Amino acid sequence: MRLARFSAVSDKALVVALLLMPVLLSAAPLTTNTSATPPAVKVAGAPKNIIFMIGDGMGPAYLTAYRFMQTDPGNTDIQTTIFDDLWLGMASTTPDDDTLVTDSAASATALATGVKSFNGAISVDSNHMPIGTMLQLAKRQGKATGVVASSQVNHATPAAFLAHNNSRRNMNAIADMYLDYQIQGKPVADIIFGGGREHFIREDRNLVAEFSAKGYQYADNWRDVSKLTRKPALALLAPAGLPSALNNPHPAPLATLAEQALKLLTPAEKGFVLMIEGSLIDWCGHDNDIACAMAEMHDFAKAVAVAKAYVDAHPDTLLIITADHETGGLSLGANNVYQWLPAVVRGVSATSRAIADELNAVSTETEALQRWQALTGIVITEQEQQQLLAERNKTQAELRKVVNELISRYSYTGWTTGGHTAADVPVLAYGMGKTQFSGFMDNTDIAKRLLQFIQQTPQ
Ligand code: MG
Ligand code: ZN
Repeated sequence: MRLARFSAVSDKALVVALLLMPVLLSAAPLTTNTSATPPAVKVAGAPKNIIFMIGDGMGPAYLTAYRFMQTDPGNTDIQTTIFDDLWLGMASTTPDDDTLVTDSAASATALATGVKSFNGAISVDSNHMPIGTMLQLAKRQGKATGVVASSQVNHATPAAFLAHNNSRRNMNAIADMYLDYQIQGKPVADIIFGGGREHFIREDRNLVAEFSAKGYQYADNWRDVSKLTRKPALALLAPAGLPSALNNPHPAPLATLAEQALKLLTPAEKGFVLMIEGSLIDWCGHDNDIACAMAEMHDFAKAVAVAKAYVDAHPDTLLIITADHETGGLSLGANNVYQWLPAVVRGVSATSRAIADELNAVSTETEALQRWQALTGIVITEQEQQQLLAERNKTQAELRKVVNELISRYSYTGWTTGGHTAADVPVLAYGMGKTQFSGFMDNTDIAKRLLQFIQQTPQ
């Protein structure tokens, strides 16, 4: 395990890393993927603004499932989604080791820096040296920057855009770096929206107070998010991750945050780079919870619609969307049956975690079965009822597992793992510079092209 932690990476080390970047960008790859890596072309008219959206765990089957979910029941003409309209290519996601399967930290490092690293790495290379990120470069170029996430804002994916650490698990140290790592006397991100308050207001340090002293407006609830009037701004809407979209009373959490972030970043004279993560798609995938995953996809789709509308109104903007990896080995069709039943998934109105909690909370088995029926709409056999009831009053995880097995069985949803897989991920783009992202590429190529765009910001 590499648990040694970076407490204070000097600005100087980053400058060195950034100075090396043009070399990295122009050097032809000498090992593999030569055919997949396009030559470093200088693109005339780099976009002024970049909106980089990441669906954590959003493998291709998630987009397919969402398409079927969005098609009106009974309609044999499958309707396309906003994802289908923007889909241009696919990307590989392998980390810098021999496992082929990446975690979110290594892939976020690849997407934020263009350099592959080991699983767990937050924008440090395999020698544990910090690697300059695209948000740091943007800041140096005089652009505004931001991160929006439905997980903790200092969770692996956004962390790789703003911090350096040998382990994604050092979440307090990562939160510290959001404030302490400064460029021209200012923290790197002008906008930080998401969850994770427990890492910012701690016994040993109150980063919210420190950000406020640095001039950041602060919101810890939705009403105050709408009252933010300017950047820099910090919004921490939950102690840890935001509630699952399926259980969240807010109709469009990610889209609301994205819209507010874009509004506050728009006056930036030299443009902005904004990373928006649909973080919780991955968490549902780890649970093998298809209804949860589809609700997160819907939340992400609404945020994509906000970003796409922004590009329509601001044509000097590039919208790029990808995933960091696939989660769960999701497949549509299972157990040798040639069908997938979105109607079953649509009938499930709570996450498997919420269902398990409710089944454990009621006092009788009859009530538990009534709650199952009300929350899922799935009529299960007597044997399955006994299987479900036998897991009551054990851990939530054990009961949840049976809940998800039943929902997957009745909808013919397949899963191969509670972890990640090495499947390629979709690449979608819209707006200025989108043609750079068609076909097959590696996830580092996405970052390299974005870094090129950011470097071309007129001084
Ligand atoms: Mg993530
Ligand atoms: Zn994951």
